[in-house]
Amino acid sequence: MFKCLSAHRRLQVSVTEVVVVFCLWGTDVSRAYVFQASRPSDGGDNPAPHTKGETSWVQEECEEIKSAECPKGFIRPPLIMLSVDGFRASYLKKGKSVIPNMHKLSACGTSAPYMRPVYPTKTFPNLYTLATIWITSEKQGVKAATFFWPWVIPLERRILTILRWLHLPDDERPYVYAVHSEQPDTFGHRLGPLSSELDNPLREIDNIIGQLMNGLKQMNLHRCVNVIVVGDHGMEEAHCDRTEFLSSYPLNIDEIMLIPGSLGRIRPRDPKSTTYDPKVVVANLTCKMPTQHFKPYLKQHLPKRLHFANNRRIEDVHLLMERKWHIARKMPEKLRTRCGFFGDHGFDNKITSMRVLRLLHTL
Ligand SMILES: [Zn+2]
Repeated sequence: MFKCLSAHRRLQVSVTEVVVVFCLWGTDVSRAYVFQASRPSDGGDNPAPHTKGETSWVQEECEEIKSAECPKGFIRPPLIMLSVDGFRASYLKKGKSVIPNMHKLSACGTSAPYMRPVYPTKTFPNLYTLATIWITSEKQGVKAATFFWPWVIPLERRILTILRWLHLPDDERPYVYAVHSEQPDTFGHRLGPLSSELDNPLREIDNIIGQLMNGLKQMNLHRCVNVIVVGDHGMEEAHCDRTEFLSSYPLNIDEIMLIPGSLGRIRPRDPKSTTYDPKVVVANLTCKMPTQHFKPYLKQHLPKRLHFANNRRIEDVHLLMERKWHIARKMPEKLRTRCGFFGDHGFDNKITSMRVLRLLHTL
């Protein structure tokens, strides 16, 4: 619960405390490892995920080497960034039995215990933040390619396509690749982040990463390509029963519009309204209940560490939610028989459950 005593206290947090999500380019990676293949194959136009009889990448020992070993024609080591939606940092603790490939990346490659997402801890703010790689490569005249068609194309197909692009002639081949998986986010919402049933979707994601690493190995690119596996935000427990309703507060809710959920954004229903006053809305939502699970802010008063104020698209009134809680405009008229979710994200980015995975296979 938010403490009302500090309701008007503005947190003055230094900008330097905010985690810069992505600044790997041009960064020296102090620990570089590569994975020793027993007998790399020549690859092919349609590389199979794993050839029968050959040791899979995950079974190989990892070995440290100092520089990239790329096939002829590769003028620099390519980079593949795979973003895994909603991959909460703590999922990595499931270890070898559930996510053997990611476990190996974590144990043998370069990894951080977690990465802090940007606020709001939603998909697109974070993907846009991560995708600055595109701009960097463009500035350097390097060809980049991306694969982002959620749902329509099976993930396995996306990985195979990236592997095919790596096989393009020297003058056509991109050197920066971005590919996205919408899992395990969907199952995280549906089942909740602590459900043991989440193990199966996590196994599937891990299997896809294994296919990528095996494909690289078969194309003799496992010592050449840099791979980054990164999440966009974590996942917290949530449930319909933990919802606050604006209608419980002294507000005329017919005059306002709320974008609801794990964070609340309030704007006037009529954009030209002359009576709407954001300050009054904030005052009427401040410390009105003994147990209040959100804190209202004028956007310029939000904690500076959130970096969430300086844009005309950000509504004047913002509700920072307590973890596990949602905000909605009013109680549903029909009694709810079931709740369709057990997990959500979007909360304050300093909350542990919002932390995400970051693994590197770098040379
Ligand atoms: Zn997401």
